[in-house]
Amino acid sequence: MEKRHLDIFTELIKIDAVSGAELPVARYIEQFFTRLDIKSRTDSAFEETKGNSGNVIVEIGGGGEFFLAAHMDTPRSTLGVAPQFLEDRITSDGTTILGVDDRGGLSAILFAAERALLEGRIKPCTLLFTVCEETTLGGSKYFCPGENLRYGYIFDSHMRPGNFVSETCGAMRFTFTFRGKAAHAGISPEKGVNAIQLASAAIARFPFGWINENSNANIGIVNSGRATNVVSDEYIAIGELRTDSVEFGEEKINSVAREFGEIAAGMGGSVEFGYEWEFLPYKVRENEIPYQRLLSAYKREGLEAKGVKSMGGSDANSFNAKGLKAINLGVGAQNPHGNDEFVLYEDLSASARIAYTLITG
Ligand SMILES: [Zn+2]
Repeated sequence: MEKRHLDIFTELIKIDAVSGAELPVARYIEQFFTRLDIKSRTDSAFEETKGNSGNVIVEIGGGGEFFLAAHMDTPRSTLGVAPQFLEDRITSDGTTILGVDDRGGLSAILFAAERALLEGRIKPCTLLFTVCEETTLGGSKYFCPGENLRYGYIFDSHMRPGNFVSETCGAMRFTFTFRGKAAHAGISPEKGVNAIQLASAAIARFPFGWINENSNANIGIVNSGRATNVVSDEYIAIGELRTDSVEFGEEKINSVAREFGEIAAGMGGSVEFGYEWEFLPYKVRENEIPYQRLLSAYKREGLEAKGVKSMGGSDANSFNAKGLKAINLGVGAQNPHGNDEFVLYEDLSASARIAYTLITG
């Protein structure tokens, strides 16, 4: 692969910037483009994320109708990262993550943009570098697209280049609060209604795991109780439901809530319930422009193209929810988030070629 690209990647992974602390990466990107005589701006996404930086936005030729994006945060610190440049891949020394998620995607976009700018071949487009992808998708949720922006490519899937996420499920987070009545458990338990008991009866009926091929559900956090001699009066259960259909998800969780309500009422208690969508499902179809442009870019670069459906969310979900057709591209960040993260040189290089083709082609 190109030495210049390797240098950019290495500089980026050495910047410690977990979610909410992206400022040093934002500064790096601003200076990167200043050197190329291109202005960048930073929005106020920190108002949403409470972090120390907004999203960095680089509008070339007025911003164009499409964008390339990568996120600036890493899920864990890269402080002290010692990259190992092996024969076919880069790894850390095993004591930290490598930071390839998403410095792999970020470096590919920067390297491609630099080359295209120096050659005078770059088309009008927007380059977008987001904050807090790993925690809340807060940066992409906050992002306000220019009015001409229509679609984009996110360089952030762990799959190898050529593979891309053209559709995903959405994820809903819900909370059930079971209410009983407190009493002294040792002296007058008959005066109480135990919220733990009624929650247990209800949760035993919860549809854990796969509900159908494209939907699953989980309760992952529960909390109740203050003392062993008190009949607990409150029990909180928090979980998520993932599905490719908003209608199905809402129907399902509402029917669970009705059943929980009946069980709780039958035992002398009650249940309160609420939910919100953390990200919505999306689908970009094969006959749409962003899909078609991507297929021809892969073909040109000799990569086999494969669109897949994912159960996980990324910045692409936020952009699609804003009406921007966005596809998440594989950059080959393998074993993401672990200390055994690695990337193949050929994958970094392929990602940069795809970015270059998209912004010049
Ligand atoms: Zn990522």
